[in-house]
Amino acid sequence: MAFVNENYLKLPGSYLFSEIARREKQFRQENPDCDLIKMGIGDVTRPLPPAVIEAMHQAVEEMGQQKTFRGYGPEQGYEFLIEKIIEHDFKPRGVDLAVNEVFISDGAKTDTANFQEIFGMGNILAVTDPVYPVYVDSNVMAGRTGIYNNDKGQFEGIVYLPCNQENGLKPALPSTKADMIYLCYPNNPTGTTLSAEELKKWVDYARDHKAIILFDAAYEAFIREDGVPHSIFEIEGAREVAVEFRSFSKTAGFTGTRCAYTIVPKEVMVYDSKGEAHSLNKLWLRRQTTKFNGVSYPIQAATAAVFSEAGKQQVKETIDYYMDNAAIIRAGLEKAGYTVFGGVNAPYIWLKTPGQMGSWEFFDKLMKEANVIGTPGAGFGASGEGFFRLTAFNTRENTERAIERIRTRIV
Ligand SMILES: *Cc1c(COP(=O)(O)O)cnc(C)c1O
Repeated sequence: MAFVNENYLKLPGSYLFSEIARREKQFRQENPDCDLIKMGIGDVTRPLPPAVIEAMHQAVEEMGQQKTFRGYGPEQGYEFLIEKIIEHDFKPRGVDLAVNEVFISDGAKTDTANFQEIFGMGNILAVTDPVYPVYVDSNVMAGRTGIYNNDKGQFEGIVYLPCNQENGLKPALPSTKADMIYLCYPNNPTGTTLSAEELKKWVDYARDHKAIILFDAAYEAFIREDGVPHSIFEIEGAREVAVEFRSFSKTAGFTGTRCAYTIVPKEVMVYDSKGEAHSLNKLWLRRQTTKFNGVSYPIQAATAAVFSEAGKQQVKETIDYYMDNAAIIRAGLEKAGYTVFGGVNAPYIWLKTPGQMGSWEFFDKLMKEANVIGTPGAGFGASGEGFFRLTAFNTRENTERAIERIRTRIV
C-alpha cells in the first residue's frame, strides 16, 4: 500500500482564486452582457520587450546549428547572465556579489518554495499576515507546522506577524522564537515597502537570534522612491543572515517565460545539532545540482537582453505604464474617500473596505455594482480581512474605466 505524506492533508483547498472564479462565473451566467473589468490578477499583461524577443530568436537559431548547439548548461546558470545581473542589479547599489552567490532558476515561486528543504524540521517560521501563500504552504508540505486551525485561518506552529491599519501594515519583530523569517518587499499583496532603517531592524534581529531572513524582492523593479532598499544586501550585516529571491516575471514580463534568481551569500550559516556551522550557499548548490538541471539556454540568453541598453529602456517603459495605472487607481480611490496603501513602489493597491465591510462582501458589491473584479484581502490571511487588493496589471483604458465606475457607482 502506498502511504501519503500526511502533511499534504493539512492543507485546506486553495480557496481564494477558485472561489473568485466561482462567483464570477455565476455572475456572468446571470448577467451575460455585463462587461467585467478584472483587477484581481497578479499577472503581467504587456508583451515581452522586443530586445528580449530578438535575443530569444537568435538563441533558438544557435540551438539548431552544429557549431553553436548547447546541451546541459550549468545547473546554477550561465555566467554570461550571472555577470550581467551582478553588474546591473547590484554593483550600482554598492552590493558586491561573487558569481557563485547567484543561482539562476525558473522562478521565484519555485525557489521560495524549495529553499526551506535545507532547514531542519525544528525551525519555527515567521511570516507576515497577510502573506504570499507559497511560503506557508511549502513549509506545511514539508511538515514544519501543525494543523490548520479553521477558526483562526492559520496553521499551528507558525509565528504570524499581523500587518494591519494600526501598525501601518508594518510587521513588528517576532516576540517569540523564530528561525526562518519570510519577508516580501515591495509587498504582495499590500504594495507597501520598508525603509532601509526599518529593514535594518530585521537584519539586526536575525543576527541576534541566528535566524535567517528569506527576502522576496520580486517587485524590486517597481520601486520609485529614493530611500527604499532594492536589495536586502544594501543593509549592513545582511550578508550573514539573508537570502534574496528575485524574478524576471513581473520585472520584464517573464511570467510565462520563466527566469529568476536567488542570492545566497557565502557568509550565511545554518547550524547542526552540535552547533557547528554549515554554509547555506554550499547546501543550496548541492540541492540545485541534484534536483535541477538549469534554465534553458534560449531563455537565459533572452534574459540577458533585459540588461542591454534597449532592453533596459523597454523594461522601464512597461513598468512605467503599470505604475501610471497604479497612480490612477490610488488617486481615484483616495478622491473617493478610500483609505489606500501601496501603489507607489508596487503594482498593488491595498484598500480598506468602507464601513467595516468584510472582504468578500466588498468583492460581491464591487462585482455587482461596479462590475470590477478584485481580490479579497482575507484570502491572503486573517489580518487581510476588511481589506481588498487591486492590481495595476491592466490596460490604461480599463484601469480608468474601473476607477470611474468605483467612484460613481459604489456609495
Ligand atoms: C509573482 C511573485 C513571484 C514571482 O514568481 P515567479 O515564480 O518568478 O513567476 C514571487 N514572489 C511573489 C510575492 C510574487 O507575487
